[in-house]
Amino acid sequence: MKAKQISKRGYLFTFDSKNSNFEVETSIYIIIGDKKVFVIDTHCGADSMMYVHDFINHKCKDHEIVVVNTHYDWDHVFGNMAFSKHTIISHQETYDMLDQHWESMEIANKDSCDGDTSKCLPNKTFVGDLDFLDEGVRLFHSPGHTHDSISVYDNQDKVLFVADNLEKPLPYLQDHRLQLYVNTLNYYHTLNFETLVCTHSGVVDFETIEFTKGYLNSIIHDKPLDLTTEQLEVHGVNRLELKKRK
Ligand SMILES: [Zn+2]
Repeated sequence: MKAKQISKRGYLFTFDSKNSNFEVETSIYIIIGDKKVFVIDTHCGADSMMYVHDFINHKCKDHEIVVVNTHYDWDHVFGNMAFSKHTIISHQETYDMLDQHWESMEIANKDSCDGDTSKCLPNKTFVGDLDFLDEGVRLFHSPGHTHDSISVYDNQDKVLFVADNLEKPLPYLQDHRLQLYVNTLNYYHTLNFETLVCTHSGVVDFETIEFTKGYLNSIIHDKPLDLTTEQLEVHGVNRLELKKRK
């Protein structure tokens, strides 16, 4: 399995039914910095991360590995064990959610996992922002899809990775605080990026931000939605989820 280069130092490993028990297209993002290599999310188990270890051994074997978990969903963290000896960073809230829900997520998703999914929590947490100034990489809290979600900004390559805050045809809403989500999307606009990337749809056009904002605002202000069949399917799931969480 090969990584796809999306910028000077940014790469995506994209998994789907061809190479994973989890059929949904899911990417992890790698930034090869000067001294550190950032592995952003760890997919569905340690097996998926063998490709990443091979890649790092080949491209930058002396770099310090820094793993980032963008939020608590299982398909972003279950490969953490493959990096248990390295720094694994997340938002404090992600740590708390994982500590509480890891085992139940394992049971619920056991048929979609790839190899070892032993509980392996982040060993470094933050709230707000975390800057790697020397490397031009910034992690920042960006509540949206989930309240603990963080995004990653590569200031050198002008790449913004938003994990599940954007997704085609629509993102899944797992938190009811939709105004915070809109604020996050507004904040994205203030960043100077040239490439916009998300977990389940890869590189997406900038319009996706405005479209998602429109979708959220329609729900917030109870306005009619004009959605395609595909979008309606996700919207149905979202409606049920929002009802549960309010
Ligand atoms: Zn996801």
